Amino acid sequence: MSQSNTLASGLKVGVVGGSITGCAVATLLSRIGCEVTLFERSGEELKDRGAGLGVPPSVIETYIEHDLIDADIPYFRAGTFVRRWRTPAEAYRGYLAWDQPTNVLLMNWGMLYRNLRRRVPNASYRTAQRVTRIDNRSDGAVVALTDGVQHIFDLVVCADGYASLGRHYLFPEIIPRYAGYVLWRGALDESALADAAVLESGIHCLGYRSGHGIFYFVPNADGSVARGTRLVNWGIYVPVPAAELPAFLTDTMGVIREGSLPPGAMPLATERALKDATHQRLPSFYANLVERCEQTFVYAIYDCEVPAYCVGRIALAGDAAAFARPHSGAGALKGMNDAVALADALRTGTSLDAALTEWNTARTASGNQLVRFGNQLGRALVEEIPDWSTMNAESMERWFTASVTIPAEIFRPPTAATRT
Ligand SMILES: Cc1cc2nc3c(=O)[nH]c(=O)nc-3n(C[C@H](O)[C@H](O)[C@H](O)COP(=O)(O)OP(=O)(O)OC[C@H]3O[C@@H](n4cnc5c(N)ncnc54)[C@H](O)[C@@H]3O)c2cc1C
Repeated sequence: MSQSNTLASGLKVGVVGGSITGCAVATLLSRIGCEVTLFERSGEELKDRGAGLGVPPSVIETYIEHDLIDADIPYFRAGTFVRRWRTPAEAYRGYLAWDQPTNVLLMNWGMLYRNLRRRVPNASYRTAQRVTRIDNRSDGAVVALTDGVQHIFDLVVCADGYASLGRHYLFPEIIPRYAGYVLWRGALDESALADAAVLESGIHCLGYRSGHGIFYFVPNADGSVARGTRLVNWGIYVPVPAAELPAFLTDTMGVIREGSLPPGAMPLATERALKDATHQRLPSFYANLVERCEQTFVYAIYDCEVPAYCVGRIALAGDAAAFARPHSGAGALKGMNDAVALADALRTGTSLDAALTEWNTARTASGNQLVRFGNQLGRALVEEIPDWSTMNAESMERWFTASVTIPAEIFRPPTAATRT
């Protein structure tokens, strides 16, 4: 059931980018009556990187209510962050510093993407369409493609990720800040492990002197959550000085990549050096798990606040707008929340300008707050991580509370409801 109104009905909307945010925007705006065209540069369906993400339960419930994802989407519920540190006495599993209570659902990124993608009308989703230019005009916004073809829309939503063309067009002076470290990621079938049960107790967080690693189960690519079939998803934060980043991000062909080395692009020597360092840093259960992984991938960590989410008829959503360090695990849900709020603003707004102004104010504040939260977490858990092996549950809790303020509204989905 759709809920179109005169404002949204027939509104021509262009969406740049067809990943998590782009799919959520296209689906919700189509349902309220907008005529949506989505341009995705990739020539095929986006490939699962085999990695996972954690999302608060309240957010998932809201997405199910909005019919953005299936009610039976597979996930694991984690109630604990298991914080450990390698010590001589606890070299295999690490010294347990703190079982920190949490409440997070762990999902497979590819499964979330496919749930969202299925809901975008096929006629709206255009693959192999790279946008090369976006311009505000008095009567709308123009999108130009590589072949020179131009499209004019009433509104263009840029959901084109952290290196957004839209953000660069609106705010050329804004350059994302490199945080001084990278996130190295991979996944392993649990069947490859003799002792996967170690990971049953929650999200395992392994501190070391200049970062930490995080390990948890996610459903496999087919959605199976049965014991013996799960994936172990992991990521390790590793410091790489800015001056060394170009060499570090040089791929197997000798090309310096911007911001990341996707699966298959990392030279074996780089992966070997990272694995060797992991054996020094993490307890051997975790280091041996990482040792068995192939096709690992890495991305540099940046953060970026923005002065606005919308200028004229060009809007930014998801990572294309403000984007935060991934410690909060809020990347995917932030983009989806941007989409839910935009659909609500267009559904209830009295004019396009009024709707965009309302949306812009709320989402800019929320997005920039998420960036500051990510900064706090990065400082506490990577840049200034204390030696957890000298701490216990009480001192860990004191340290965490003093270092990090969790802003409740970040994880709360936008309140107004676009029921469809
Ligand atoms: C293939 C893929 C796999 C990912 N896997 C994971 C994962 O396993 N775990 C995790 O936590 N995060 C993953 N991410 C990142 C995650 O999706 C984002 O951090 C977050 O969810 C915000 O999503 P987004 O849609 O705003 O941005 P992104 O997911 O970065 O998507 C941006 C999209 O815009 C497209 N695009 C960019 N420029 C243009 C252009 N000029 N013209 C047309 N299209 C353009 C890109 O191809 C991409 O599809 C992945 C992203 C991608 C693209």
